[in-house]
Amino acid sequence: MRSGRSTALGGLLGLLAGVVTAYGATGPLADLVLLNGRVVTMVAEGDVHEAIAIAGDRIVCVGTQDEILDRVGTRTKQIDLAGRAVYPGFVDPHTHLLNDSWGQGLSPIEAQALALRNGITSAANMYTPPPETEVYLRMAERGEIRVRFSLYLIYNSSCGDVLGDWYAQYEPLVELAPRLRVGGVKVFSETSVCGGEPIGVSFSDALADELTAEGRAGYGSNAPLFTRAELADIIREAGALGFPVAVHAIGDAGIETSLGAIEDVLRGESNRLRHTILHNLFLRDDLLPRYAELGVVAAIESMSSCFANYYRGLIAPQYGHIVRRWADLVATGAHVTANSDWPWCAQEAISPLFRLQALMVADNRSDSYAAWEPCGLLPEDQFVDAWTGLRMMTAEAAFMLHREDEIGTLEAGKLADLVVLSEDPLLVDSDVLTEIDVLMTVVGGVIEWRDERL
Ligand SMILES: [Zn+2]
Repeated sequence: MRSGRSTALGGLLGLLAGVVTAYGATGPLADLVLLNGRVVTMVAEGDVHEAIAIAGDRIVCVGTQDEILDRVGTRTKQIDLAGRAVYPGFVDPHTHLLNDSWGQGLSPIEAQALALRNGITSAANMYTPPPETEVYLRMAERGEIRVRFSLYLIYNSSCGDVLGDWYAQYEPLVELAPRLRVGGVKVFSETSVCGGEPIGVSFSDALADELTAEGRAGYGSNAPLFTRAELADIIREAGALGFPVAVHAIGDAGIETSLGAIEDVLRGESNRLRHTILHNLFLRDDLLPRYAELGVVAAIESMSSCFANYYRGLIAPQYGHIVRRWADLVATGAHVTANSDWPWCAQEAISPLFRLQALMVADNRSDSYAAWEPCGLLPEDQFVDAWTGLRMMTAEAAFMLHREDEIGTLEAGKLADLVVLSEDPLLVDSDVLTEIDVLMTVVGGVIEWRDERL
C-alpha cells in the first residue's frame, strides 16, 4: 500500500514538474548554459561576462561562472567554451539573401544555412516582390525560415516600375509566421541593377562640375526617380499604415531628395518609424549632418562597395573624399548600421567578420575579389574601430529593424540569439579578423549551426 501511495505521489509531482518551470537558487533552471568564456554583451564597452544561461527561447542570465552554474539542473545542456567569445547573433539589415538565392544556384534554405554558418541570426530581405512574399510566408509556416527575417516589400522595382501600395495587405512589424515579419517598404529613389543597364547614380548640380568624363557620360545624366514631394507622399502613405520605409539612394541627388522627403514627412517630429536611407555613397558636406538632425538611419555596406573604385572614378580625385564617409557619419551621432547588401559580391561578403575588417583596414584579404575590380580602399580617416563596427552589425541593426528590445545585445529577457566565435574580435589585430571562425549559431535557444570543434 505504502509503495502504491508514494508512486501516485511521485506521479503527481512529476506531472507538476512538467508544468512548472524548475528553479535554481536565483532563478529558473537553464536548458543550455555556455560556460568558461568571454560573453560580450555589446550593451557597453567592457561589459564582458564568463557565462550565459538560456531557458526556452530566452536568455535568463549573463554572469559569472558561479551565477550560471546555479542555473544548471539535471537536464541542462552544458558547453565549455574554453575561453572562446560569445556575441549577440549578427543582424544583417539589408541583404538579398532570400530573393537572390535562386540566381546564385542556392535554394532559400541553402542560403539561410550559409547565413547561419556565418553567425547571422536576423536579416532584412531588402527586395521582396508580391509572389515571393507569399513563398516566404508558406516556407515560414512549414518551419523552413531559420534566420529571423524582416521582409521589405518593394514599392517600385530596381528598374523604377511602380508596384504601389500592395504592401498594405500585410501587417508590419509583427510575427506573421515563425521567424518572419514584414519590416517595411523599400523604395528606389534611383534605378539600381536593371538588366544590363548601369546603376543609375544621380548627381546634383552641385557636383556637376566635379564629375569625370565617365561620370558625365554614363551616370551624370541620371535623375532621381521622384521629386522630393512625390517621394514624401510615398513615405507618408506607408508611414500612415505603420510601415518604416527604406530608401535606396547612392548619388548625392538621390540622397538629398530622400532626406528632404523624410524631413517633409516628419515636419519636426521624431523619426518614430526609423525611416532609413540605404547605401549613402556620395555624401556632400551639407548632407552629412542631416541624418542625425532628422533621426534618419544610415545603412551602409563595407564590402559590396568593391564597386567603390568604380564609383569614385565617376568624380574628380579632389572630390573623392565624399565617397563612403562612414566615420564621418558615425561622428555626427547618426544611427549607422552595416549590412551585406549583395552577399554574393564576394563569397566572404556575407561574413560579418570580413565586413568588419573592411570597415577597419585599407585593404582586405578576400580572395574572391579577383573576379571583381580591386576593392576601393577606404581612406584612413574613414576607418571605424571594432566596437563601432560590431555595434553596427548588432545593436544598431536591431534598432533599424525595431527589434532592439528582443535582439542585438545579450541581456536577460531577450531572445537567445547568439554566436560563439573562435576568438574575440575586440581583442585581435584587425589583420586577422577574417581568421576568426563562427563555431556555433543559436537562434531562439535552438542550435542552428555548430562546428565539430566545439
Ligand atoms: Zn540592396
